[in-house]
Amino acid sequence: MRKIVIAIDGYSACGKSSTAKEVAAILGYRYIDSGAMYRAVTLYFLEHHISLTNPKEIIKALEQIHITFKVNPKNGTDTFLNGLSVEKEIRKMRVSEMVSQVSTIKEVRVAMVEQQRRMGKERGIVMDGRDIGTVVFPAAELKLFMVADMQVRAYRRQKELLDRDQMVDLDDVIENIRQRDQIDTTRAESPLRQAEDAIVIDTTHIAFDEQVDEVVRLALSKIVSASRA
Ligand code: C5P
Repeated sequence: MRKIVIAIDGYSACGKSSTAKEVAAILGYRYIDSGAMYRAVTLYFLEHHISLTNPKEIIKALEQIHITFKVNPKNGTDTFLNGLSVEKEIRKMRVSEMVSQVSTIKEVRVAMVEQQRRMGKERGIVMDGRDIGTVVFPAAELKLFMVADMQVRAYRRQKELLDRDQMVDLDDVIENIRQRDQIDTTRAESPLRQAEDAIVIDTTHIAFDEQVDEVVRLALSKIVSASRA
């Protein structure tokens, strides 16, 4: 069977990562959380006091950033920044509050897209993010665009944070999601938008298992047609 590329884009906290992770596990594909990469860059910038308005400093910093993923049997994949696990740190609010700003920077996007394409070279990959179907893998065999109501998104994100021992007020979660949606959809460099050939999945009212089943069904049908071609 031919291996395909599955691109999952959408707004923050619509269930992209959890779906992508599960679908990848079922298909035996690699899962890449591209948002984690932008979060890792943001963490590095915060810790090294990188000025977001100084391209030279940014380029120099990007040369020092090495991001890798390691499969973790408990929760999918852990993100490593220069060899150290930053999985917990990159989910904290201080990173969430700055990541969309960092993601508007052209140099950051160029560096991340290059790495993402390299990771997808061997295909058999599920990648989620904001520009995967439009910019990173415009020829992906399966493109999904996930949406959900704000209240549902915020509850889910708050629960995820609680599971990581972080108590965050629901209003603060909503505010952060709104701000990120706003920046992500209006930035000049590869803004978040639905690819023309993407299938929209609204996760507001469907159970997680149903969501996964639907994506696996779509993927299998694409795998069969890619193998016949
Ligand atoms: O997916 P997650 O919510 O963790 O992504 C964090 C942020 O990273 C997004 O709000 C967005 O600003 C940025 N991002 C991006 N392009 C991607 C993935 C994430 O700009 N492909």
